[in-house]
Amino acid sequence: PVRVRFAPSPTGYLHLGGLRTALFNYLLAKKTGGDFILRIEDTDQSRLVQGATEKLISVLSWSGIKTDEGPTSGGPNGPYVQSERTDIYRQHADQLIESGHAYRCFCTPERIDRIRKVGLKHGNQIGYDRHCAHLSEKEINENMEKKLPFTVRMRTPEGETKVNDLVHGQVKFSNRLLDDGILLKSDGFPTYHLANVVDDHMMGITHVLRGDEWLPSTPKHLILYNAFGWKAPQFAHLPLLMKPGGGKLSKRSNDAYVEHYIQKGYFPDALNNFVALLGWSVPAGESEIIPSMDELIEKFDVSNLNDSQAVVDVDKLGWINKQHLLKRAETEKGILEMANYLQPIVQETFEEKLETDYIGKVIEAVKERIRLVHDVPELCEYFFIEPDYTTEDANTLKKKLKNKPKDIVFSDEARQGLESLETFDTASINQYWQDMASQHEVNYNRIMPVLRFAMTGKGVGTSIPLTMEVLGKSTCLERLDKSRN
Ligand code: GLU
Repeated sequence: PVRVRFAPSPTGYLHLGGLRTALFNYLLAKKTGGDFILRIEDTDQSRLVQGATEKLISVLSWSGIKTDEGPTSGGPNGPYVQSERTDIYRQHADQLIESGHAYRCFCTPERIDRIRKVGLKHGNQIGYDRHCAHLSEKEINENMEKKLPFTVRMRTPEGETKVNDLVHGQVKFSNRLLDDGILLKSDGFPTYHLANVVDDHMMGITHVLRGDEWLPSTPKHLILYNAFGWKAPQFAHLPLLMKPGGGKLSKRSNDAYVEHYIQKGYFPDALNNFVALLGWSVPAGESEIIPSMDELIEKFDVSNLNDSQAVVDVDKLGWINKQHLLKRAETEKGILEMANYLQPIVQETFEEKLETDYIGKVIEAVKERIRLVHDVPELCEYFFIEPDYTTEDANTLKKKLKNKPKDIVFSDEARQGLESLETFDTASINQYWQDMASQHEVNYNRIMPVLRFAMTGKGVGTSIPLTMEVLGKSTCLERLDKSRN
């Protein structure tokens, strides 16, 4: 069975690239009936951020990604937090020293530093000259007796290492260019490489889907799998996320993080849909709009992973969110969910608690004009509060209205007629003004701007008969009275 993992380091907020990694692994697991494991890689204690793990877990759950095993769900392969597994890594480092695949390095940080600088001067990227790879047993014993601090380094073999990647195909690395990387630091903590390989093996991981930035580490990992005599998982490295117009998506900018999109009010399913298209494509001829996690799972196929440019285009995300919004608006349940989401926002914005029923009607009325449910209060506040007809903008607008249609809309006759309408819905309101227009020999299209001003205080917006239906008769009459003065 497929077993995959998401293995973040809890160093802050969840990057979109992190969400993508988690999502692809999750999709692969659920597609194949496998397990998705969350493992916290917190061995670099200097980079830890308080509360980051909790935040991460809550963002994953917002996205609808459920862990089968992990720090909160538990499981038979725990602990799932690397800082609780340090003994395991030490034992494995010892095992590699025994078998000759690793060695103790007693070089001081100062020496290492010096060597790196000299190396760089000669265009040599390798950090370490393998001095301790050749120590005699006697020298090692002496150093140990003196209790000299040491790191454990992998003994990189000669030759080349081939990575068979599901995205990139075969990539060859010359071992000469690989460092004798540190596996265990002098404080006894493992480095990423050792902990990652040991855990992937012990947790039975079959596939590793992760960002391209880890591809250069993969030959080291394969060498370690070999050294332990273990079977390596399948690797798939996903393209780096780019900004539109080029350049890596910055770790510093706000909109690189999932939290930003949660706050803005994007649907989890829309963000998943968007992120899924960064390095994966839908089967040819099919819609890019995938409305739910279940459908994503159904469509997902590792063989459609690709290494084409993964551009984070927020405009496209907005478009996707809109398609999801329109889809949701097709069902009563969808409308109600959106209304429930919007209600507290409306309440906070306008200090008014409105029925979800009403809010749902507003959403339906304006759905074509918004990309986010969150846009509603700002875009059409007139659904929630009475327009202010006395502002400068409103006055300028009013002055521009033509006299004849103004006289009609603001006449007692029009008011009475409206009041006596029995059904107050879009069709009858529309019919009413059509009739008024022809009776008074004025173009219907001339009436609408006046009516729009009266109902909303604005010059543009949703269809006016529809707006009136949503506002309801008594509100419309009140506004007619207020705006004509
Ligand atoms: N801890 C690494 C990270 O923060 C995991 C990389 C991997 O998936 O191997 O992304």
